[in-house]
Amino acid sequence: MSSKKYVYLFEEGRADMKNLLGGKGANLAEMTNIGLPVPPGMIITTEACKEFYVNDRRFPPGMEEQVREKIRVLEEKTGKRFGDPANPLLVSVRSGAPVSMPGMMDTVLNLGLNDETVEGLGRAADRRFAFDCYRRFLNMFGDVVLGIEHAKFERILERYKERRGVALDQELPAEDLEQVVAEYRALIERETGQPFPQDPMEQLFMAIYAVFNSWNNDRAIVYRRINKIPDDLGTAVNIQVMVFGNLGDDCGTGVAFTRDPATGARELYGEYLINAQGEDVVAGIRTPRPISDLKVEMPAVYQQFASICERLEKHYRNMQDIEFTIERSRLYILQTRTGKRTAQAAVKIAVDMVHEGLISKEEAIMRVEPAQLDQLLHRRIDPRGSVKVIAKGLPASPGAASGKVVFDADEAEVLGNQGEKVILVRTETTPDDIHGIVAAQGVLTSRGGMTSHAAVVARGMGKPCVCGCEAIRIDYEAGEFRVNDLVVKKEDVISIDGSTGQVILGEVPLIDPELSPEFLELLQWADEIRTLGVRANADTPEDAAKARAFGAEGIGLTRTEHMFMAPDRLPIVQDMILATTTQERQDALDKLLPMQQGDFYGILKAMEGLPVTIRLLDPPLHEFLPNAEELAVEITRLRLTGGDEEELRKKEELLKKVRVLAEFNPMLGHRGCRLGITFPEVYAMQARAIFQATVQLVKEGVKVFPEVEIPLVGEVRELALLRQLVDEVAEQVMKETGVEFEYSVGTMIEIPRAALLADEIAREADFFSFGTNDLTQTTFGFSRDDAEGKFLHEYVEKKILPENPFIVLDQAGVGKLMKMCVALGRQTKPDLVIGICGEHGGEPSSIEFCHRIGLNYVSCSPFRVPIARLAAAQARVKNC
Ligand code: PEP
Ligand code: MG
Repeated sequence: MSSKKYVYLFEEGRADMKNLLGGKGANLAEMTNIGLPVPPGMIITTEACKEFYVNDRRFPPGMEEQVREKIRVLEEKTGKRFGDPANPLLVSVRSGAPVSMPGMMDTVLNLGLNDETVEGLGRAADRRFAFDCYRRFLNMFGDVVLGIEHAKFERILERYKERRGVALDQELPAEDLEQVVAEYRALIERETGQPFPQDPMEQLFMAIYAVFNSWNNDRAIVYRRINKIPDDLGTAVNIQVMVFGNLGDDCGTGVAFTRDPATGARELYGEYLINAQGEDVVAGIRTPRPISDLKVEMPAVYQQFASICERLEKHYRNMQDIEFTIERSRLYILQTRTGKRTAQAAVKIAVDMVHEGLISKEEAIMRVEPAQLDQLLHRRIDPRGSVKVIAKGLPASPGAASGKVVFDADEAEVLGNQGEKVILVRTETTPDDIHGIVAAQGVLTSRGGMTSHAAVVARGMGKPCVCGCEAIRIDYEAGEFRVNDLVVKKEDVISIDGSTGQVILGEVPLIDPELSPEFLELLQWADEIRTLGVRANADTPEDAAKARAFGAEGIGLTRTEHMFMAPDRLPIVQDMILATTTQERQDALDKLLPMQQGDFYGILKAMEGLPVTIRLLDPPLHEFLPNAEELAVEITRLRLTGGDEEELRKKEELLKKVRVLAEFNPMLGHRGCRLGITFPEVYAMQARAIFQATVQLVKEGVKVFPEVEIPLVGEVRELALLRQLVDEVAEQVMKETGVEFEYSVGTMIEIPRAALLADEIAREADFFSFGTNDLTQTTFGFSRDDAEGKFLHEYVEKKILPENPFIVLDQAGVGKLMKMCVALGRQTKPDLVIGICGEHGGEPSSIEFCHRIGLNYVSCSPFRVPIARLAAAQARVKNC
């Protein structure tokens, strides 16, 4: 019976077979087919991995025979034989998922070595080299396949290095390595109760088994969760003929990007190590040399490499991350993949490639991850401030961060979860540190280059990282690092700047970001493409101006309650709330009116020519009052100490009112339009302030478009009543001033009932704006603070919900209500303007949904406006 095809030779695959062959495998196949110098090999499909899991971790029937068959092909191609002592074939075995997961799964190099073939390799090449390969193989196989702790191998090697008084592995002579090999074999036998397997075929199947298994190791699972990679993709296994970068000084190995992954500059960017193998560069154990040195050291190889890089970039029409090995001055390409890059580089490369004629504007728009832009919109160190730079490393991932020094990933996680800002400081990081990197503000390492684990992972997460900072000497045991005479202890605060490589003592002043010319150009293309409007949520003229500078086309939400909290206003607001007579209340409101008018004047002016939605007071009134428990304590203190009688009486009175206003469930209580109904004077004062500011500006010749918004409406009569109030105030102000002005009145949609009856509500509304923060709370029946604090993370972990619905819009439920609301609303008023101003308005997947259901605009915080502009353009490209 012929079985399914589980194994492909490189020449049988193509770049578009990523799902089946994994990213690495598909690209090896593609490179082979375009004639690049790729050592021959085969790929076991992700399908085989999936069946492996379905079959209780057994290989699917027929797979093993296919592997054997392809090994015979590799033997023919190379003239070498598996297990042949005279001329042994050696292979690497690597994982390769459809989505790149750097360092997350396992690799075994030099497979095929045993006690006999090592002798053959020694004769063919060099004895020291052969035993060096063998001990690396035993170590990797022992660690990855047999599960023996890497440190146990490391300790044996360290002993030999100490005995010789040398620092580097290469300095050990052949006879030491032979003994290391003997000790490694003994270690394996001791740990597993079995001798090290000598049969290369047996080694191979054990290694394949381990790679399949590694798909579900802890760090791979965590990485997939963080990067939202589905668990069911499976990994392919790449088996490739070994080439050696550690045969001597005419050999080497390296990694290069076709453009600078940090800045996007169009120049080869990478690192290499002479006389080194495979993982030495990425592992960050020796600090590698910049690729430009290769131009001098091996000019012919460099030229060939540079032209291959150019070819690969043109072929894939994207920046590539390429691994290479030089064996006796011959260049081999071991891998190419789309290079990971910082946001700054992503933007520059996308824009440059449009100018170079490689890609279209639409493709450029799709090349930049909107969420990644966050990095560019973050603050950086103020160059004018004076800072104490204590050391400098490699600028591995841009941005600045301050935090307490921690030396351990677990500790970073604990402190990070407590809300502390920490900087993870390590000699180097490994994939096992990933949870610590997630929890930290930034990473500092004393070893490793720009392609080390810490650098790659931090760039992927958009966190600042400084690598290879050799000036710092870390002492894990003492919980400190030293730079010359300076000692920095655990929990001391430092800052790092991943754009310059600076390490700074203490916290540093940060400044707002500026947009690069490329970024502005990309956003301009986004504006040409998108149909969805982008506004900002802003409560001050400064924020409004910032939003405008970032390209906001209006204000989608001004929360007026923030204006009530200012220290000079709160006492007046409290007087207003605590008033016992209408007159007392009116007195307080009269004091607030000019202040509010000033607020609205500033915001409307900053947004000249653009619409500004101003929401009338929303939160429950007791939010403006002192805390009842604190007041009670204060009163008890006054009573016990026999304090001022008058003060005591006032406080007792206050406490009584605070208690009267307290609610069992303020989120569902006396707030929003319900306040407007019971205290119409408050809304009338706010409407007056808006319209008087409008008149002031109209008189100054400034064009303004105020939109008065009523929150938390669930029934059309609520809106009708309050709309009438607002219209009356507008009419009065026009009459009093003799100035005509434009305005509109609309409502938030944040209660399911409002969405269900949107056709009725639309009769009274000029616009709708989805308040999806509240709409999510009211649709799920979750109180956000309780849900996020207590159970929501478990819902996400147990996959009850795919995401936190307060961050990523719940399209299935909340989204369904929105869709229904849009249809019903426009049934009554076909041109009804509908936007969103909940936090989802700045989240890319939610923005795409808003585009699809036909909203007019999204509104988000000023710093997210560029992200929203890009996401809106992507939504258009995807849904055209
Ligand atoms: C909302 O509910 O989505 C909203 C924008 O209002 P707030 O967050 O102020 O309740
Ligand atoms: Mg709300």
